[in-house]
Amino acid sequence: IAPPSTVVLDNRFATELPGLAIPWQAEEAPEPRLLVLDEALAAELGLDPDQLRSPEGVGLLTGTAVPDGATPVAQAYAGHQFGGYSPRLGDGRALLLGELVDAGGTVRDLHLKGSGRTPFARGGDGLAAVGPMLREYVVSRAMHALGIPTTRALAVVATGRTVYRETALPGAVLARIAASHLRVGSFQYARAAGDAELLRRLADHAIARHHPHAAGAEQPYRALFEAVVAAQAALVAQWMLAGFVHGVMNTDNMTISGETIDYGPCAFIEAFDPATVYSSIDHAGRYAYGNQPAIAEWNLARLAEALLPLLHDDQEQAVAVAVESLGGFRPAYNAAWSAGMRAKLGLPDEVDATVVSPLVEDLLALLHADHVDFTSFFRTLGGAAHGDAEPTRRLFIDLAGIDAWVARWRALEPDAGAMQRVNPVYIPRNHLVEEALAAATDGDLEPLERLVGAVSAPYDERPGLERYAEAAPQDFGAYQTFC
Ligand code: AMP
Ligand code: MG
Ligand code: MG
Repeated sequence: IAPPSTVVLDNRFATELPGLAIPWQAEEAPEPRLLVLDEALAAELGLDPDQLRSPEGVGLLTGTAVPDGATPVAQAYAGHQFGGYSPRLGDGRALLLGELVDAGGTVRDLHLKGSGRTPFARGGDGLAAVGPMLREYVVSRAMHALGIPTTRALAVVATGRTVYRETALPGAVLARIAASHLRVGSFQYARAAGDAELLRRLADHAIARHHPHAAGAEQPYRALFEAVVAAQAALVAQWMLAGFVHGVMNTDNMTISGETIDYGPCAFIEAFDPATVYSSIDHAGRYAYGNQPAIAEWNLARLAEALLPLLHDDQEQAVAVAVESLGGFRPAYNAAWSAGMRAKLGLPDEVDATVVSPLVEDLLALLHADHVDFTSFFRTLGGAAHGDAEPTRRLFIDLAGIDAWVARWRALEPDAGAMQRVNPVYIPRNHLVEEALAAATDGDLEPLERLVGAVSAPYDERPGLERYAEAAPQDFGAYQTFC
């Protein structure tokens, strides 16, 4: 099968950074069947959805029919996984097909996950199952609709191959669009290779692609590091404000662009609790909801270590630069979190931070104590601004506590309309995601399509979608995710 003749893929990563790229091919898919396609994203990329649905298009989306001139590669990277360093991870089951220029002129990666074993596969089978790939599809669509920077899922294609996990599962390939797939782990790999030139070229590539202003700075590589610190501080603050738990914040899963990447054991919190962990393998709670800012900072320290040779000729001075620049993380994170909380509470800028901070702290203590649903709380609170506090009160056991808090908050004259534009009514709730993935694995895509429909317009309450706004039923129990 020939690829769609109009799709042009660049191979900029492959040619600029051959030391980080192994040319490779996707495995044949015995019986490919397109399950989902994000048509709006296709249009953004200047791709024709009908063409993507054709056999040629599905060939592109599975990597089995690539345009002339494209050089699909497996990317090399290292990474700290749960704090332990692995010098050689890389795309074990993924391929960068190439870069495309979107309708706005921006260069974006077209990447596949589940496309077969590569030289980085180690003991893995190189494959992915329908359920986890559709989880990435749903959750990344929700994240994008929430306004949170994220890689995007263009399509999921069932391959017709069986994948063996605990049970036999239908296999799939996810086609992913990203600002790039450069990670903290890419820099760790280049640094460990001991090739100063490779590290420099990687940094220049990252500057050109993501943080072009750094090129004109007095110290471009320092400016690059500071730009990543700023992007990650802003990103993780947005996760926290939405109640998102990434679940596997290894340094190979943290981007240089500031996009959320790798939706594995991720989930949204319901009851507010900083200790919330969903991943079945995160026994120590390293990647718990409330640990995410500290982990992001830790990962950025690993990036700084990798960049040391570029920060100063004298390594002691390079460390001083890194420490000073990393010091920007906490203030940037705190500013983004505070501004976001202020918005969630509808509080005007005039209200002093010395009033807002204790109000937020007291609120989080009340939410934690009564295991209050985080998303429902903020959404119902809009209604409590002027009139009906009952839907909010119903979420609490400590009524005196919440009444006193609401009175304090109301006195600050919150803007209810502004609140409903930042507090979602629909998030991909865990029980709904599980229901949709289970049905899809059995061949029924309708629950998934309905869920995607709800979460793609998260702020806009619509009749008939009541169950998408509700917390999990009691009998859903403690939720665990597997990657
Ligand atoms: P992740 O936890 O998904 O970020 O992946 C961590 C590393 O394991 C990456 O190098 C992946 O490419 C690799 N990996 C995960 N699953 C598989 C698989 N089924 N086959 C080969 N490599 C895999
Ligand atoms: Mg990963
Ligand atoms: Mg607790």
